[in-house]
Amino acid sequence: MKGDGPFPASNNVLLEVRNLRVIYDTTFGKVDAVSQVSFHVNENEFFGLAGESGCGKSTVAYSLVREVPPPGKIVGGQILLNGRDLLKLSNEEMRKVRWKEVSVIPQAAMNALNPVYTVGDQIAEAIMEHEKAPKDEALARAEELLDLVGVGRHRVRSYPHELSGGQRQRVMIAMALALNPPLVIADEPTTALDVVVQAQILNLFKELRDKFGMSMIFITHDLTTMFELVDRIAIMYAGKIVEIGPTDKIVDDPLHPYTQLLVKAVPRIGKGERGKFEYIPGSPPNLLEPPPGCRFHPRCPKRFEPCDREEPRIIQVDRDRWVACHLFGRG
Ligand code: SF4
Repeated sequence: MKGDGPFPASNNVLLEVRNLRVIYDTTFGKVDAVSQVSFHVNENEFFGLAGESGCGKSTVAYSLVREVPPPGKIVGGQILLNGRDLLKLSNEEMRKVRWKEVSVIPQAAMNALNPVYTVGDQIAEAIMEHEKAPKDEALARAEELLDLVGVGRHRVRSYPHELSGGQRQRVMIAMALALNPPLVIADEPTTALDVVVQAQILNLFKELRDKFGMSMIFITHDLTTMFELVDRIAIMYAGKIVEIGPTDKIVDDPLHPYTQLLVKAVPRIGKGERGKFEYIPGSPPNLLEPPPGCRFHPRCPKRFEPCDREEPRIIQVDRDRWVACHLFGRG
């Protein structure tokens, strides 16, 4: 079964990303950071973007809220949220979309929080700005949110430095949920935390999903964490999506050679060989000059004749599975 891209088969689609392209215009040349990336997220779905550091997953995340840091530039594609292309909105229209329709939980909570304002004031600010709520009402909502994420309302007047790393991350989650957006993007939200706090934050996400019914795009290089949380996963390599599928199928039966190596590199979930883990040979390419053909070919143990000159298209190989590899046909 073949198709033109991993577009939705369901009618409860919240987000469709079509052929997204992002470059970083550097003094050394143009870095092809995100290339022809397409995926969709359904309502109340938890969707994962995984891959090694530098594969473009965070760039995709910040593209969705049009906040790619300079010298990054979105140069092509569509980002359809409830059918509306966010790339066509004015800056003012986009400002109204952030927090209200899509919000981001960033990687480093300490850097994202303003050290000179209390956490209550910082949560209340988004509520006051978007809903024109008076300050006392916004602060009351901030207290409720702090209770909800397990920090406790007594912390509403605390400054970020008075909280632990886990508490600060929970404050960021409270801020992301303040306006009850249908889509939340979590960019490596547990990376800086110890394993116990990581597990608590993952449980919190599960509880909040039941309570709010939001969708989430969860970004991480840690497949173990992702496997715990998401319904479907897209695997990225060198700025491109190489495989998309339901989490259990990605873990138990990965199709793309890169996904296979990535899964084997996680001993806890590698099929049949628990305790043994393998590393992925070589390193990701320099995206100033990506390799011709399949970007993974210099590291791929299964490369064959067309791989170093012909780029594989992403094709549908099953009802809910997509893969970009010549082993599955030439599109
Ligand atoms: Fe490997 Fe070729 Fe498939 Fe690329 S297209 S992953 S090089 S087999």
